[in-house]
Amino acid sequence: QVILGIETSCDDTGCGIVDTEGILLGEALHSQHLIHLNNGGIIPPLAGDLHRKNIENVVLSALNNANITIEAVDAVATTVKPGLPLSLMIGTKYGKYLCKKYSKPFIPIHHMEAHALTARMIDKSIEFPFLVLLISGGHCLLAIAQKVDKFLLLGESIDDAPGEVFDKMARRMKLKNLPEFATMSGGMAVEVAASKADNPLQYDFKPPMSAYKDCNFSFAGIKNVCLHHLIKEERNKEIGPNEVIPGINNLCASLLLVVTRHLCHRVQRGMEYVARKNLIPPDKQILVVSGGVACNNFITEGLKIICDTMAYKLVRPTPKLCTDNGIMIAWNGVERWNANVGIYENDFDHIESQKSSPLGESLTEDI
Ligand code: ATP
Ligand code: FE
Repeated sequence: QVILGIETSCDDTGCGIVDTEGILLGEALHSQHLIHLNNGGIIPPLAGDLHRKNIENVVLSALNNANITIEAVDAVATTVKPGLPLSLMIGTKYGKYLCKKYSKPFIPIHHMEAHALTARMIDKSIEFPFLVLLISGGHCLLAIAQKVDKFLLLGESIDDAPGEVFDKMARRMKLKNLPEFATMSGGMAVEVAASKADNPLQYDFKPPMSAYKDCNFSFAGIKNVCLHHLIKEERNKEIGPNEVIPGINNLCASLLLVVTRHLCHRVQRGMEYVARKNLIPPDKQILVVSGGVACNNFITEGLKIICDTMAYKLVRPTPKLCTDNGIMIAWNGVERWNANVGIYENDFDHIESQKSSPLGESLTEDI
């Protein structure tokens, strides 16, 4: 069978076509990244308009790329939650329209479930239950994936997401004014600048929440400390409105280091809890890391050290599959098709997009 997946939750219009064996047949992606970068952030109505303008072409390109017509598709999977309402609405409407017009089953998809499950498409040895860390522009969560549609949330960010902090700080640091960084996402710009630092310890940051008996995350404090260092430097060195501070590489490295230390610390706590409660068989311990921030090599190297210490295998999808794309939505459709859960033959009129939705049940006890 062949599943077509549609993604429009944020600023990427994506379509992927995957068969039920997990073979990628075709794909297409239209990214609004540069447009939003030039606007200094996503303007939701504009994102929605661009999805509306591009969705049909993206789906047609993916079908062309797969060398099939829509008739050959067995079901349409579409991200319906969580995300920007005006963006989600376009994909949801279009997915349902295709299903009606061509009499196909509709498979509504949770965007974070898709980020979590993509790893199983590239590494078929990953079985449930596995530990998953999702770090992106809108989320930071640590969960045990127990089944396709069952997640136990060990922790999540109580404030900002790490990608959001990188994006905001990169903008505030004016990294875009340096030609080298002009087209990069904030996270990538911070990573590249950090790789050129000569002293990642120049700026003082303390990892937050070190005494909290849970696995939650917090990035707002880190963002404020970073801003404080930046403002101090700008004042001391009399930096002009379009200029970048001289110590920018070191500031980026100090920021990346504290984010990495925090992520590693919370994930290790989660692993210790998993071991105490025997939630994952000791010989099958896998940590999947995904979401746009998982593209960061420094962060994944930090996580690798934790995984080695705790006897976990670390799996990270390729960067293309870590950031938003239609392939992961099609694959999530395949997972649901194979498990026979959440497939709507024709009674899908009532399914609406939702801007927020928890991925699963949260843990209530102390960790
Ligand atoms: P969500 O999945 O939570 O809805 P999203 O869809 O906006 O959020 P993704 O496309 O998964 O997020 O990820 C985008 C984020 O990833 C951006 O914040 C971007 O800065 C960040 N990012 C991309 N590359 C890197 C990198 N190399 N290092 C750190 N962050 C990165
Ligand atoms: Fe995403």
